[in-house]
Amino acid sequence: SKGAALVSAVAQRLASQRRQVDETLAPFRLSQEQLQLVKTRMRAGLEAGLKSKGPSTIKMLPSFVYRTPDGTEKGKYLALDLGGTNFRALLVNFKKGLQHNARLYHKIYTIPQEIMQGTGEELFDHIAQCVSDFLDYMGMKNARLPAGFTFSFPCEQTAIDTGTLVSWTKGYKATDCEGHDVVSLLREAIKRRNEFDLDIVAVVNDTVGTMMSCAYEDPQCEIGLIAGTGTNVCYMEELKNIKKTEHKFGKTEKGEKEDMVEGTEGEKNEGDAEIPKMCINTEWGGLGDDGSLDDIITPYDVEVNQNSLNPGKQRFEKLTSGMYLGEVVRQVLLDLTRGGLLFRGHVTETLKTPGIFQTKYLSQIESDRLALLQVRSILQQLGLNSTCDDSIIVKEVCGAVSRRAAQLCGAGMAAVVEKIRENRGLDHLNITVGVDGALYKLHPHFAGVLQETARILAPQCNVTFLPSEEGSGKGAALITAVARQKHD
Ligand code: BGC
Ligand code: MG
Repeated sequence: SKGAALVSAVAQRLASQRRQVDETLAPFRLSQEQLQLVKTRMRAGLEAGLKSKGPSTIKMLPSFVYRTPDGTEKGKYLALDLGGTNFRALLVNFKKGLQHNARLYHKIYTIPQEIMQGTGEELFDHIAQCVSDFLDYMGMKNARLPAGFTFSFPCEQTAIDTGTLVSWTKGYKATDCEGHDVVSLLREAIKRRNEFDLDIVAVVNDTVGTMMSCAYEDPQCEIGLIAGTGTNVCYMEELKNIKKTEHKFGKTEKGEKEDMVEGTEGEKNEGDAEIPKMCINTEWGGLGDDGSLDDIITPYDVEVNQNSLNPGKQRFEKLTSGMYLGEVVRQVLLDLTRGGLLFRGHVTETLKTPGIFQTKYLSQIESDRLALLQVRSILQQLGLNSTCDDSIIVKEVCGAVSRRAAQLCGAGMAAVVEKIRENRGLDHLNITVGVDGALYKLHPHFAGVLQETARILAPQCNVTFLPSEEGSGKGAALITAVARQKHD
C-alpha cells in the first residue's frame, strides 16, 4: 500500500541519515591502538624536549621551581594571574605557625579581545591598571608587596624571575612581546604609571602554580594539569635528566648546591628526598607540530587549525582544549548541514560565526540530566533553530569531540606518569595530579574519561586527580614565598 511505502521510505531516509552521521563521526572515535600510539609519541616528545638544546615540538621548559611547598610558607603575597580569558589579582596570606591556612582575596578583570591582540604596551598597561585598581580596593598601594606573576604561555626561563615569551598561544597576539622578558614588560608598565611599586619575585606557568597549590594539600602531588582554554602539563623531573640546561647545572653536580637548588631539604617524598629535581613545564600542547598526529587529525581539525591565530602550532592543544573544541564541533555541524543532514540543510549566519560553542555550552549540551527539549532551548539561545532529531545529532557530535579530547589528554597523562615511574625505578607508582581549567571542572564527562584512559594506558600507576582551588594564583604566591624564604 501507499502508506507502507511511505513508512519504508522514511525509514530508509532515517537509516541513511544515521549512516552518514556515523561515518562523519567515525574518525573521532579512537581505538585503543591509536591511543597507545599517542602515548608513545608523547613520551618520545617529552624525552626529545628534555635533551634538545634548540627548539623542540614539546618545549620542556625549566621552571626554576625545585620543590613543592612544605607548609612552612608564611607571609602576605600578591599573585597576578594572566590566564586564557581574564586577569586575576589575588592577595594571599599564609598564616604564621598555622599550617595549610591561606586567606585569600581576589578580583577578576576581563581582558578585551582588542587588548589581547593589540600592542604589548597596551596589554601590559592594562594589566598594571588592573593591579592598581586591586591595590586601591585592598587599601595596599604603599605596601610594595612581593608578587608572583602567573603567565599562562610558554616562557624560556633562566631564573625564577625572568621568562622570555617564546610564542603566544590561545587567543593572544599582542605585538612586541614574543622574544621579550615578560617580567621586564610588567615592571616597565608599572614604572610608566609611576604610582605604586611591586617586587616581582617569580614568573610562573599556570600548570606549575596549580601543582604547587595542590601539593600544599597533598605531598604526593608532583604533576600539574590544565584542561581549560588551553592545555598543558608540568611535573617534577630529576635534574640529571634535564640535559638541555646541563651547562647551567654543572655547579650543582660539583656540589655547590646552594647557588642553584632552593630547598631540596624537603622530606615529603620518602626515599627520594635527596634527589635534586626541578619542575618542567612541558608545553605538551605542541605535540603534533611536526606532523606526528596527522594520522588522527580530521578535515575538521585542519579547518580549525587554519582559522586559528597560530596555524601549524599547538596541534595537540587544538584537539583537546576549550578554545578549540567548540570550533571543531561547529565545523562538523557545518558539514552535516551542508549535506542536508541537519538544520533542514540551512547554513545560517549563526552557524558560520566562530566561537559560538563555548565550553560552558558544550558542557550543558552534554549534561545527561538535560532533556532533549532543553538541548533545543540551549541551541535556541545560541540562535540555532533545531528539531528534535537535530538536537540528538548535535549532542552526539559534542560527545564525540569532547570524548576524543579527554582520551587524548589521558593518553598524554599516561606517558607522563610512566616517565616518572621509570625515573624512580618503581614497579608501581602512586601519584597525584593537581588540575584546573573549565573543561575539567565544568564538563560532565571530561574528567571521567581522562581518568579512565590514564588508568588503562598506565596500569602500573595509580593516578589521583585533585581539582585545585584558586590553583594558579595561590600557587604563584606559594612559589613567591618559597623563593623569598631562601633569602630571608
Ligand atoms: C599555554 C601554556 C598554558 C596552557 C594552559 C597553553 O596555550 O601554551 O603555557 O599552560 O595553555 O593555560
Ligand atoms: Mg587560569
